[in-house]
Amino acid sequence: MADRDGVIWYDGKLVPWREATTHVLTHTLHYGLGVFEGVRAYETPNGPAIFRLQDHTDRLFRSAHILGMALPFSKDELNAASIAVVKENGLQSCYMRPMAFYGPGKLGVAPPANDVHIIVGAWPWGAYLGTEGLEKGIRVKTSSFTRHHVNITMCKAKANGNYMNSILANTEATRDGYDEALLLDNEGYVAEGSGENVFIVRKGKIYTPDLTSALEGITRDTIVQLAEEFGLQVIEKRITRDEVYTADEAFFTGTAAEVTPIRELDGRTIGAGTRGPITEKLQKRYFDCVKGLAADHSEWLTYVK
Ligand code: PMP
Repeated sequence: MADRDGVIWYDGKLVPWREATTHVLTHTLHYGLGVFEGVRAYETPNGPAIFRLQDHTDRLFRSAHILGMALPFSKDELNAASIAVVKENGLQSCYMRPMAFYGPGKLGVAPPANDVHIIVGAWPWGAYLGTEGLEKGIRVKTSSFTRHHVNITMCKAKANGNYMNSILANTEATRDGYDEALLLDNEGYVAEGSGENVFIVRKGKIYTPDLTSALEGITRDTIVQLAEEFGLQVIEKRITRDEVYTADEAFFTGTAAEVTPIRELDGRTIGAGTRGPITEKLQKRYFDCVKGLAADHSEWLTYVK
């Protein structure tokens, strides 16, 4: 990963990939307090376009606000940075990683407030949970790890340190032969995947957990809008794992995971054990939107010219 051609936007400059480094005494490396985003750009008939860039930038700033981190660049500067990395790397489609971190200014627990750095990297990235997963669905296991409690870390922030929980859950599930983990909240209700929001479909209605301990996913919001445009009812409520077992369909959403059907949870087949019809309809519509093939929702696309 580090040994690549191309450039990374680093504190206002485009620097060669191999030179985009930081000191080992970087505060965020030691304690995990930083904020980041995962964004995708897709190839469209009019060149590459970044999907919902402003919404990702807004969430990055909300995450920083929650953690009390002052970002040294404006939203407009960061939007321009994202556009520049796609363009300068000559990428047609890619995953992008804006991240703000504290530098090595001071290594006590209290972070060095005036030593905040921002990077935006980009690289080609295929289907996060596999192309076969997108079509046939994935096998998921309920995690032995609980999703963060709202008063331990703050779940609305897409914060670096929050991902230790995701890594533990994902590596446990994949080590046990599953594709992904489903995490429950501290009361035992379904929260989200290690890097995805979750939806179930039952009797034609769509359900998704409320956002108490799940990330406010931009793909989740996209799918809720698209479902409602199809006239489908979307209900936010507490969901139990046995409601997932007995659902007609289930799927994950995320910028990386896109819309990935879940065909099994804890050895129980969900519905017909394949991508369900409502999941397929929403997935197709999602891909049409992100790839600039839909007649509407051009407001979600930032073209890289
Ligand atoms: N939950 C978690 C824990 C995530 O890491 C992600 C990925 N950012 C999501 C949900 C989905 O969010 P989005 O659709 O904005 O990518």
